[in-house]
Amino acid sequence: MHATMIEINDLHKRYKMGDNIVHALRGVSLKIEAGEFVAIMGPSGSGKSTLMHILGLLDVPDEGSYKLYGEEVSVLDEVALAALRSRTVGFIFQQFNLLARTSAGENVALPQIYSGEEPNLIKARALLERVGLGTRFEHRPNELSGGQQQRVAIARALINDPRIIFADEPTGNLDSQSQEEIMGLLTELNNQGITIILVTHETEVAAHAKRIVRVRDGQIQEDKIITPHKPIDAVWNRVAPKVNVPKAGFGRLSQSAVRATRAYVNEALRALLANKLRTVLSMLGILIGVAAVIAMLALGAGAKLSIEKELASLGTNLLTLSTGSPQSGHVSLGAGMVSKLTLDDGLDIPKNIEHVKNIAPTVNGRAQVVFNDKNWNTRIIGSGPGYAPMRAAVPVIGRFYTDQEDQERARVAVIGMTVVRNLFGEANPLGEMVRINKVSFQVVGILPEKGAGPFFDQDDIVVVPVATAMRRLLGKSFLDSVDIEVDDSKNMTEVSDGIIDLMLKRHRLTEDQSDAFQVRNLADIQAALSATSRIMAVLLAVIASISLVVGGIGIMNIMLVSVTERIREIGLRKAVGARPKDILMQFLIEATVVSVSGGAFGIAIGWGISATMSWLAGWPTTVSLNSVLLASIFSAAIGIIFGLWPARKASRLHPIEALRHD
Ligand code: ADP
Repeated sequence: MHATMIEINDLHKRYKMGDNIVHALRGVSLKIEAGEFVAIMGPSGSGKSTLMHILGLLDVPDEGSYKLYGEEVSVLDEVALAALRSRTVGFIFQQFNLLARTSAGENVALPQIYSGEEPNLIKARALLERVGLGTRFEHRPNELSGGQQQRVAIARALINDPRIIFADEPTGNLDSQSQEEIMGLLTELNNQGITIILVTHETEVAAHAKRIVRVRDGQIQEDKIITPHKPIDAVWNRVAPKVNVPKAGFGRLSQSAVRATRAYVNEALRALLANKLRTVLSMLGILIGVAAVIAMLALGAGAKLSIEKELASLGTNLLTLSTGSPQSGHVSLGAGMVSKLTLDDGLDIPKNIEHVKNIAPTVNGRAQVVFNDKNWNTRIIGSGPGYAPMRAAVPVIGRFYTDQEDQERARVAVIGMTVVRNLFGEANPLGEMVRINKVSFQVVGILPEKGAGPFFDQDDIVVVPVATAMRRLLGKSFLDSVDIEVDDSKNMTEVSDGIIDLMLKRHRLTEDQSDAFQVRNLADIQAALSATSRIMAVLLAVIASISLVVGGIGIMNIMLVSVTERIREIGLRKAVGARPKDILMQFLIEATVVSVSGGAFGIAIGWGISATMSWLAGWPTTVSLNSVLLASIFSAAIGIIFGLWPARKASRLHPIEALRHD
């Protein structure tokens, strides 16, 4: 069996510093057996750390061979090195490099995330006990002394059962008592069969080792055995651990992929919760964008729905005559400036034009309606009896007023359900007298319920004979419009043209003044409506994409800051076995968690806004499942797209440069 653990031959390492090339290692050859305790010593800049980093699989030599358990490892790529590191070696650094805001126990368990094992907190606790910190499991690094922090780091180095522990000036930041404790621990570990390779420039520290290798100017100057090495009993340390080099990406078993994802999400959440204010601020952009879009879509959909409902409740083959806005020179005079519709204009239509089935001359206004001590402000419609069939307004309770009542300007009213509820409550209004603008009217019917629209409640109306409304209630001498029902849809154009001709004749206008009046049909109104909602949809899409991009840039910005702040953390994670992919996923998931939670809060707030609007203003709103799905997908996509760059940046950091960052 092979007892030689490490065998290096003629190692060279050069660094480029601008135009200069620093030759850090100049042909180093060394053999280390399993179970040795070696101190590498030498003045600053002599190449100790470079040597240790290569031995520790954190870096590769430019030239020369490195055999670990007889296997050439100097040719391995980053991913394979990471896997080997995570199973074979443990590191202890001068700066401890514990994750802040993370308990001692979780710090110890950290390397397990990257070794593809289930994080095992029981083992972490046992290791903390072994280094004398059994009671400090929940403590965070800032609640521990330097010596205690280094002991946590030793426990962390042990979690994956390493064969070798590399210690880089492990006592450099410690007082002499802690130094003795730490060195005692390392000696104990060595006695149990773990190979220890220690870099130090302190003789006192090196005195614990059994062999001292002195390095100077990138070469081995002296290699001295202090205590002869006894071949160890621990058979396990004489053979390489089985390392399944994971394929790049998520090529591991799916079970461990699930485990890894869970670990990434945990790490991301921990980082985000550690910086709550920053996290919330960075999600604001997405949150506001999504909330605005959800609320606007809900309102738009609600408005469209109720307008469609309103249109559907109208009879078919309807035309509406109103005054147009004729051009005088280039100046628009506004509707009704030139000509006004009289009641006789309306009444003349069926007498002169064929195919007209019904008409309803109409005026609109508002008035105060009083019954006993209750009073209610509502919309007044003055119209003919034609209103009932054309507007789907034939009362279910009571009756509509007759032609005769209409002509006699009778004071009768048909009222909507909202008015009934507000004035009569549960009482039966039929036959009761109400006062509208101080004029008494008898209620003869109740309009069928149609439901509330976005801008008005269709049931909040009172319909009275048109002449009564004009003379007695609203003080109008002209009509606002005339509704015309045509007998068959094929005659719509003919009737429409006929009406315009008739109006021109009655008002003594010429052909070229034909736009003094306009006749519109439902199809026109529907076309206008869908054109409006198309424009609305495009506008919304523009607003949504602008706000999502702005939100995404916000997230990217924060992620870049976060990567820069956590370079050492990234270095540490890599040292304990994280592959570039692991780091990429962690930061990508962080960005995605921010954007998706921003999106989720945005959906909730947008939904809240639309619910509040419908409650306050009585507008119907519908938050569609589609808009929620779309918002979720988009915000996740934003997180991934804008998180990718910072995450790649993090994943590409070199472990040593990252660890040395300050
Ligand atoms: P020691 O650990 O003995 O102080 P190092 O191994 O850190 O020495 O460094 C050996 C030499 O290589 C030094 O001259 C140092 O400046 C140089 N060096 C180390 N790392 C880098 C690097 N990343 N880039 C450029 N030069 C480096």
